[in-house]
Parts: sequence; C-alpha cells; structure tokens
Amino acid sequence: MWDCEKCKAQNEDNFDTCWSCQTFFESRVSDSTDHQLKIKEDDQKIAEEKKREAIINKELDEKGFQIWSLAIFSYIGIFAALLTLFIILQINIPRIVLVAIAFYAGQKIKKDYKTSLRKKIIEELEKDIYNKKLS
Ligand SMILES: [Zn+2]
Repeated sequence: MWDCEKCKAQNEDNFDTCWSCQTFFESRVSDSTDHQLKIKEDDQKIAEEKKREAIINKELDEKGFQIWSLAIFSYIGIFAALLTLFIILQINIPRIVLVAIAFYAGQKIKKDYKTSLRKKIIEELEKDIYNKKLS
C-alpha cells in the first residue's frame, strides 16, 4: 500500500494513479516495473529448474536397466556371500534374515549408485551450460 502525496488516500501497490484524486505518480511506474521484472526473473528461474529436473529424470530413466541390474546383482551376491559365511562358521541363521539383510544392503547400494549417477548428470549439464556461455 502507498499514500497519495496530494490527497493522502491509500492506494494498492499495483496502481500508479491515485484512485481518489486521479493524480499520476511517475515513481510508482518504475516501482511496479521493477517488481514485474523480478517476478519474470523468478518465473524464468523456476522454469529452468523444472527443465533441468526433467532432463535429469529422463537420463536416470534411460539408465534404469543399469540401476536395476546392479540392485539384483547386489541382492543375490550379498545373500550368497552371507549364506556361505554362515555355513562356514556353522552358525544356523534363518534364511529369511539373510534375505532381509541382502535386500536392505542392496537397496542402499542402489540408492547410492542413483545418487552418484545424478551428481554426474548434473555435472555434465553444468559443463554444457558453461561451454555454451563461452561459445
Ligand atoms: Zn490522491
């Protein structure tokens, strides 16, 4: 809100002319233009962020087979290793516990791998943006 310098009436921020006495204030125009420019910049930033996120998700989707292969390999590998270890140590442990441990560890490996892939994709994207700015 702003007060009219002439009649002291209160006006909304998005008006550059007083509603009461109809006086036009030049200073209000630049204010609202700056404000609109800022909104436009913010919108652009959000749009760029969304575009970036879409590219990252698309690339991760394309690597889905790789990610799942690693996960399945981890589940089976960890289960087999634990099973072998407990047989050698002659410790009797329910198979379901081994399955749970293998699944948990596999999920963790899958998650870490996805995070590292994501980091790599972001690095590549930033490199691309940097190169575009140079050329
Ligand atoms: Zn006024």
